[in-house]
Amino acid sequence: MTSDENIFDLLGVGFGPSNLALAIALQERGAGLSARFLEARAQFAWHPDMMIPGADMQVSFLKDLVSQRNPQSPYSFVAYLHAKGRLGRFINRKTFFPSRVEFNDYLVWVAGQMPVCTYDRKVVGIEPEWQGKRISALTVIAQDGAQRLYRERGRNLILATGGKPRWPAPFAALRDDPRVVHSGDYLSRALPRLRSGMRVAVIGSGQSGAEIFEDLAARPEAPMIDLVLRRTALRPSDDTPFVNEIFDPAGTDRFHARPEDERRRALTDLAATNYSVADGDLIAALYDRLYEQSVTGEDRLRLHPEHGVTEVQGHGSTLELTLTGPQGPYKIAADLVILATGYERAITAEMLGELAPYWTGEAPDRTYRLPMAPEVGPAIFVQGFSEATHGLSDTLLSVLALRAQELADSLVKCSQTARRTQSHSLAAE
Ligand SMILES: Cc1cc2nc3c(=O)[nH]c(=O)nc-3n(C[C@H](O)[C@H](O)[C@H](O)COP(=O)(O)OP(=O)(O)OC[C@H]3O[C@@H](n4cnc5c(N)ncnc54)[C@H](O)[C@@H]3O)c2cc1C
Repeated sequence: MTSDENIFDLLGVGFGPSNLALAIALQERGAGLSARFLEARAQFAWHPDMMIPGADMQVSFLKDLVSQRNPQSPYSFVAYLHAKGRLGRFINRKTFFPSRVEFNDYLVWVAGQMPVCTYDRKVVGIEPEWQGKRISALTVIAQDGAQRLYRERGRNLILATGGKPRWPAPFAALRDDPRVVHSGDYLSRALPRLRSGMRVAVIGSGQSGAEIFEDLAARPEAPMIDLVLRRTALRPSDDTPFVNEIFDPAGTDRFHARPEDERRRALTDLAATNYSVADGDLIAALYDRLYEQSVTGEDRLRLHPEHGVTEVQGHGSTLELTLTGPQGPYKIAADLVILATGYERAITAEMLGELAPYWTGEAPDRTYRLPMAPEVGPAIFVQGFSEATHGLSDTLLSVLALRAQELADSLVKCSQTARRTQSHSLAAE
């Protein structure tokens, strides 16, 4: 028998901006649902290893956690500025784009007011609870930093665990090698290794690669830096207004309604809004730096456009990278490699634990619900894993406020159904 006690209407895995926005939407809707979110980190933090000084947000502050849904919310970025006594000075800056450090501070401020998350809980398993031939609830197993295990029960589940660092094939054997670091670990793992005159290879020419190149170039250690990029040149992200309309919340409906081949074409056509592109200002700054170097005759900063790393070999403490492209193949040496190669976002069996065999393998539906076998009662939702069906905004901040509203509405319906079904079953027993 399944007890009706100690069970949450909703269990959430991950407490980044997506599930934080959902927690607020549930509260503001007065949903009356019991929800508990489990977050692997010891406290709230938004991409902490990329809090590079000077890095700005790439969306307007009006695309915060709430404003597009509820401009009167006490959890808006403007409310945050007001609470911190900086509203007037922020206005004086005449910008829509706060620094990344400030936006993280805003998120931390909101998260501190949402007592629905348990931190230091990495979810390591999900088990079904059976009632006869039906899965009526779920148990989520989480681990803390000291490897202790905890179990929480839920009627519905939402997974918002973000992306997994993309690790290119030539570096596969070097996953645990401290000389190779993903940009997601830049501040905590790459910078402490930096030494005067060191050779650093940065792989990838998107926003992260360009930011890291610029940050390293300005450091007193004066490392030699090689930026390896597949494209012909560093390219600016397209944030012009007509193109930006794809990030409007209504853009999700339009995108979802299109046939699959048209969606694929649109994703390719508009990839320059988000992938392998960097802010125009940053590109201009890098160009100036390289120009200055050509005046002084230095050779510390080098770009390798149209080349990719095809082989990596260790030589003592140095790595030798083979670059293949129009000028190649040729080799460069690196004491440290930083992979600014982005993130994979795929729903995997690992994420679903013991529920994996019951997933139909289809994409989440318009309401972000994962299609599951008929015997699975609990609704499983995802956030940030529907780019192919919901558009380029899916992994970004642009749709958070309204997506959270849609999810809150669906969850209220699912919880009412789950409670009814469970109380009927208990009465029948
Ligand atoms: C450096 C950087 C800058 C960015 N800047 C912008 C920007 O300016 N504008 C924009 O729109 N987008 C930006 N993005 C895109 C980014 O994806 C979104 O901003 C946002 O982080 C998405 O939120 P999320 O909650 O879906 O995922 P995440 O922020 O990745 O949060 C997922 C959370 O889940 C937790 N987690 C993962 N696995 C588990 C587990 N097994 N158990 C428990 N917890 C787990 C993680 O610790 C993490 O806290 C940026 C991305 C990066 C990397």
